[in-house]
Amino acid sequence: MAALVAAWTGHAHAAGEGAKAGSPPIIAAAVAVEADGTKTRFNVTLSKAVTAQVSLMERPDRVIIDLPEVAFHLPQEAGRSREGLIVSYRYGLFAPGRSRVVMELAQPAVVSGMTTAPDATGAATILTIELSRAEREEFRKAALESSAATKEALAPPVAQEVKDARPVIVIDPGHGGIDPGANASSGNVMEKDLVLAFAQRLKKKLEEDGRYRIVMTRDQDVFISLGDRVRAARAAQADLFISIHADSISGGQDVRGLTVYTGSERASDADSARLADRENKADAVAGVETGDMPDDVSDILMELTLRETRGFSHNFASRLVGEFDSVARLNKNPHRQARFQVLRAHDVPSVLVELGYLSSQKDLDLLMSEDWRAKMVSAISVAVDRFFAARFARRGAAAVLP
Ligand code: ZN
Repeated sequence: MAALVAAWTGHAHAAGEGAKAGSPPIIAAAVAVEADGTKTRFNVTLSKAVTAQVSLMERPDRVIIDLPEVAFHLPQEAGRSREGLIVSYRYGLFAPGRSRVVMELAQPAVVSGMTTAPDATGAATILTIELSRAEREEFRKAALESSAATKEALAPPVAQEVKDARPVIVIDPGHGGIDPGANASSGNVMEKDLVLAFAQRLKKKLEEDGRYRIVMTRDQDVFISLGDRVRAARAAQADLFISIHADSISGGQDVRGLTVYTGSERASDADSARLADRENKADAVAGVETGDMPDDVSDILMELTLRETRGFSHNFASRLVGEFDSVARLNKNPHRQARFQVLRAHDVPSVLVELGYLSSQKDLDLLMSEDWRAKMVSAISVAVDRFFAARFARRGAAAVLP
């Protein structure tokens, strides 16, 4: 129990311990939240003492606890109801070897204590983080102090690979780890799991005849920030970026169907703008500062490249819609545009496919069906083939791009 380091002033790292190959996983077996007038204590029972790093973040006000990799064996409803200063909390794998708890605060609060003690059996350790109500100014100051330390702990895992001559396609399964994405209204289906399964299937299909090199932004249940997804596409010098999602909508059971989105400063309609806003919050959900986006188009050359790239994105989106038309139920306006952060690489043609709505039972049944998935990955693969065939034909004919 001496291994716990009180690190909310920000010098210790939570990374790099506990996940060594062969060592047993650390298990979080229970969480209890106690609250009195001004203080709230968050108690988590762990199978082993760990080093925790706690930081604060503003807008929305959050407390973030970084831990070595922890397997959370908590009841499903854990974290869903308000207690004291904590409105709700989420937990999950944040990066390989690192887990995270993100608490939403009801009002500004600071960490007033962090202790560890053996539980009643003596076999486990209870890590207690005590929060105290604070003024906005005090909270802001503490958040600023802790953000530097957090950034340091978040070195992005960007794969640098040597480019071979084949077109590179980056497949981006949305969400992951601590960010589950949308939930089905019935059952326990989470967007992050569904889109990963679909993306893995698509990868296999596109790799079948060896004509493309496929890079996945994630191939396990791990959180990747929106900025890192874009950076991964650029680092791989991708020729095409396909982000896979499956949204849910409060509008009810009637809203259904597949939609293909491309990036644009102006949204094609209000629903698309709202969806992009929601998807763009993925970083905030996981307690990552937003605003750290590559590719803010800053000069005329980038602007020209972006315009050309968007032309390609549109072209691919129309081919996709064309292929989907015969095999899938499409949204009534199947090609839409909005300002998605993940579609911002200025030199990589990018689309975001919303496979359907988890909020619609009919869509959900399709999304879960092997037969439907097989048809969809085939349709995407045909669209990909046609897209590249057209590009190479054009490249052969003239050096000038449209
Ligand atoms: Zn999504």
